[in-house]
Amino acid sequence: VTFGGEPLDYSGRALKAYRKRVQLVLQDPSGSLNPRHTVYDAVAEGLRIHGYAGDEHTAVSDALARAGLRPPERFFLRYPHELSGGQRQRVVIAGALVLEPELIVADEPVASLDASVRGEILALLLRLRDELGLSALVVTHDLGLAWNIADRVAVMYLGRIVETGAVEQILTAPRHPYTQALLSVLPEAQGDPVILTGEPPDPSNVPSGCRFHARCHVLASGEAERAGVAEACRTQDLPVLEGGDRTQVACHWAAAAPVAATP
Ligand code: SF4
Repeated sequence: VTFGGEPLDYSGRALKAYRKRVQLVLQDPSGSLNPRHTVYDAVAEGLRIHGYAGDEHTAVSDALARAGLRPPERFFLRYPHELSGGQRQRVVIAGALVLEPELIVADEPVASLDASVRGEILALLLRLRDELGLSALVVTHDLGLAWNIADRVAVMYLGRIVETGAVEQILTAPRHPYTQALLSVLPEAQGDPVILTGEPPDPSNVPSGCRFHARCHVLASGEAERAGVAEACRTQDLPVLEGGDRTQVACHWAAAAPVAATP
């Protein structure tokens, strides 16, 4: 893992500094808030852990207000069970914001919320990104959500990123067979759906060669053979993709295909 261009340092002190710069927003706000802590304590917790030297009351107020809970004082003494699902997720976001991080990692941030408040929470994340200059890394299974909010997308299979690039590029002209299969089963997709056979392999026992090869329709249909990469698909692992803005794909067949094939 690299952050800010530097490999992560796993010493305790370095990780503590890193956790101040990178904050996590979990999927289920009911599970991530302690039911016995008031909103104030939930938001102040990070400040206390990191030994914040400023005015805690002001920092908590500002974070709640930024997360859309106004006036913040009205929420200080409330408990999670007294709030709606959307308000709870705002408290979790305030707890992440209070440390003024550079990056928020949000794991399925709206999956557990009613459809009516999903848009509000997503709009809040986008607004914070713009106003505070934050980066937001959103983990989701929902490609429509990725399309609506992301600048860049990274598609993962079995613990590795297999394709990454600008969201429009990846979602309109996917080059990795796994991304193609994911997109082909969306209701609005044109052409035949690609139904993947089998289950994802055991992550503790990753197959040799390309980790997707046992389920890959390009390999099964003989296309990879015709492109002269079938042997590589079965035997040659693909390197971890580099970071950065470039469009990248971890696939022997896509790498062998003429780039003109990609619109
Ligand atoms: S490397 Fe081969 S098996 Fe893997 S996704 Fe590409 S075509 Fe399929």
